[in-house]
Amino acid sequence: MNATPIFKKVALIGFGLIGGSIARAARAQGLAGEIVTTAHSAKTRARVAELGIVDRVAETNAEAVRDADLVILCIPVGACGPVAREIAPHLKAGAIVSDVGSVKGAVVRDMAPHLPASAHFVPAHPVAGTEHSGPDSGFAELFINRWCILTPPQGTDPSAVDRLRAFWTRLGARVEIMTPDHHDMVLAITSHLPHLIAYTIVGTADELGQVTSSEVINFSAGGFRDFTRIAASDPTMWRDVFLANKDAVLEMLGTFNEDLSKLTRAIRRGDGEALFEHFTRTRAIRRGIVDIGQDSAAPDFGRPLANLTKEPE
Ligand code: NAP
Repeated sequence: MNATPIFKKVALIGFGLIGGSIARAARAQGLAGEIVTTAHSAKTRARVAELGIVDRVAETNAEAVRDADLVILCIPVGACGPVAREIAPHLKAGAIVSDVGSVKGAVVRDMAPHLPASAHFVPAHPVAGTEHSGPDSGFAELFINRWCILTPPQGTDPSAVDRLRAFWTRLGARVEIMTPDHHDMVLAITSHLPHLIAYTIVGTADELGQVTSSEVINFSAGGFRDFTRIAASDPTMWRDVFLANKDAVLEMLGTFNEDLSKLTRAIRRGDGEALFEHFTRTRAIRRGIVDIGQDSAAPDFGRPLANLTKEPE
């Protein structure tokens, strides 16, 4: 454990997958003198108190942020504006205010107008996650070797950016800085569109009349299963992501539809060469991701293999 705290008091608004993982990792690394958290419902707040990971569970967002040096909103993107308005009068002068939202342009637009000039606003997005949500889903290792993108508005105090960078680095992340618009374009293709495609395919399979639902489930290892993992992601979070990153997602969807038409044409015309060339190119992208350590090359995504049993004698 690294025992030098970067912040005296850290307030986490929201304690789900991301808030819970930050709390666990910050505690393990000794990054905060005190960690205070809160959540929307009394049920989650009670569960967080029971887990005993943080120093204190506050009843309200306003109470949580009081005297905090770092405040991180770990809540759905659509809730960031109203919560910024709610906490603004209670922020300590010089506090760093951040978030973890998967969309940055809309979050900056919704939060910035409410925050006092005495606070430093440094939006962030840890590009790490699972399909699970809620207070029990977090784990301290979530951010290790994953990217965290910071999108500080022009003119942000560089020392506030450096302190947040140091915090995320000690949670295990690699930190990159970019503009909110660029972030939203990159994430539209690397995260938002794949989720939309997974939600579509799983929905389509569900509606297929000629294939029974037991067949869809039994034969899912043919590829469908990997889409179902993504399509099991939190509905509130993803509704907000698509509403908030509408323009970039629609632009990427336009390009995607053109490419899908090209592959459709190749299949219709029996153009094996075009299909082979395309699949060879995409295979190289997968190899590149494994080579830089952003995924494992373990067969079948590292799922445990069952042993073959001997033929009965
Ligand atoms: P989650 O597991 O569903 O947790 C969300 C938390 O926010 C819950 O504790 C919820 O409280 C709380 N909350 C909601 N509205 C609130 C409000 N108005 N005031 C206070 N607390 C409120 O969600 P998550 O997966 O951690 O996602 C949180 C954020 O991280 C989202 O913006 C998402 O875009 C971003 N993100 C997610 C991932 C991912 O893979 N999941 C990855 C990177 C970034 P209750 O439990 O009481 O409702």
